[in-house]
Amino acid sequence: PRTHIAVIGGGISGLSTAWYLARTAPPSVAITLLESSKRTGGWISSDRVKDPAHPGGTILLERGPRSLRPQGISGLNTLEMVGDLGIESSLVPVSKSSPAAKNRFIYSRNKLHKLPSSIMGALTHPLLGPKLPRAGLDLVVANSGQEDESIQEFVTRRFGKGFSDDLISAMVHGIYAGDVSKLSVRSTFGMLYHLEKDYRSVALGLLMGGGGPIETPWDHKLKEGITKRMPDLGDFVSKTSIYSFTDGLEVLSRALEKDLKNSGRVDIRKDSRVKKLDFDLSRRTVKISMKNHEPLSVDHVIAALPPRKLHSLLAKDHPELVYDPSVTVAVVNLVYSSENAKLASPGFGYLIPRSEDSTVKHNGLLGVVYDSCSITSQDQGPSRDHTLKLTAMIGGHMFDEVTSGHNQNNEELESFFIETAKETVRKHLQIEAAPELVKAHIHRECIPQYLVGHLERMQTLDERLRSDYDGLLAVTGAGYLGVSVNDCIKNAREVAEAVLSRFQED
Ligand code: FAD
Repeated sequence: PRTHIAVIGGGISGLSTAWYLARTAPPSVAITLLESSKRTGGWISSDRVKDPAHPGGTILLERGPRSLRPQGISGLNTLEMVGDLGIESSLVPVSKSSPAAKNRFIYSRNKLHKLPSSIMGALTHPLLGPKLPRAGLDLVVANSGQEDESIQEFVTRRFGKGFSDDLISAMVHGIYAGDVSKLSVRSTFGMLYHLEKDYRSVALGLLMGGGGPIETPWDHKLKEGITKRMPDLGDFVSKTSIYSFTDGLEVLSRALEKDLKNSGRVDIRKDSRVKKLDFDLSRRTVKISMKNHEPLSVDHVIAALPPRKLHSLLAKDHPELVYDPSVTVAVVNLVYSSENAKLASPGFGYLIPRSEDSTVKHNGLLGVVYDSCSITSQDQGPSRDHTLKLTAMIGGHMFDEVTSGHNQNNEELESFFIETAKETVRKHLQIEAAPELVKAHIHRECIPQYLVGHLERMQTLDERLRSDYDGLLAVTGAGYLGVSVNDCIKNAREVAEAVLSRFQED
């Protein structure tokens, strides 16, 4: 081969980048995927374990992400990948009419409240008092005139403090485990930002038919191509709220790895931690130094790593790579026997808003997912329909504060979070029984936080990478332009296409 491309990082972003490269690169291009750990998948990690309460039964536990949304262009793009990988038969769709799709809750003032399913629904939510002042405020209030601001500033200015503190902050806990007063509205709730910009009012914009997906010409072309290739996907999307696979989301990353191996196009090297990248711009090569391996010389690098990790591999300083932090989340899986533990109201789960003062009152609890109720049929044998499986997510932007007085040793922290999760379930869901099985994982710096100004920083980074590395380095991954698995896959496709088109131009 004339050209060698290395993808660094074997999470869903790196696997997808290698997969899209392998599908479209001419035979003259060699592809290597370098992953530091012994497995691919990154934060995607699904375990099947024995059920202690139902002999012969097994339970599926997710350590990281647990469901995908089929909606939008990125949703459609992942479904196309699922089809091409031939793993549709293990899809577990959650119908839009199921309780999990209809009932999402927030825990506030000692009880659970049903979350609205749309912005208009949110504007009239009973938890937030009379609706007119809020909608009225949004109709008359002026634009901030700023390029970006925090979600809290934006939402409070347009809809009042209660709306931000009681509702939106809970959603931000659910997606980013983040602080509503620090995250960028433009990078996280782009639709709200554009409604204000284009219509001067969110409510008015929605009434006038605004609020659709923000599509680039590349997105538009992608959507057209997929709809033409797989017209039946529309039916799945219209009926499905979220989905996973029989053996969890890791089915996707495992299938990607298997397909890459079968293609014979990608050299997957695990246990290969990259330590340093040296760019020789005159010879147009990159030397990749690794722990325990000989250096590798390639023509192009695509880094699918958390930005801070990439920063540590580069000789040059790029402040845009280290500005936005990532938060740590404790994930606690709790399994009860459904004979003695039942949910009063089935649904997807509940979130804790900022107004609950979670750091003090709930040891940093962000929310609880009702796994067995939302994605049914992952547990097998006698466990199926006989377990109540919950996951408590704890910490995020509150992690340092709630663990400050504790020994930072992982085992001790895990016991602390397990106690928090058990106590939470007892208090919030009135489940007095002891769990049959408990697993805790502390995921250090696992969710990137797009702080105010993030998009501008990404534009600057893009320009600097182009000028400093003359096109030899490209980046992708959750740290840049979208944290969901769908976003990671779509952005991987875009970077793979962009890099290959550059080679074709050469
Ligand atoms: P990572 O998964 O971080 O992958 C990076 C890879 O690079 C890792 O495998 C790492 O080992 C490797 N690496 C690091 N340093 C080096 C080095 N020096 N050399 C070589 N390799 C290196 N998204 C959803 O869509 N739905 C959900 O339900 C959902 N829930 C989530 C729940 C939790 C608890 C978490 C943490 C995330 C969740 N997300 C969810 C978000 C989503 O899972 C992540 O954003 C996504 O998996 C990130 O993938 P990535 O490949 O960009 O990064």
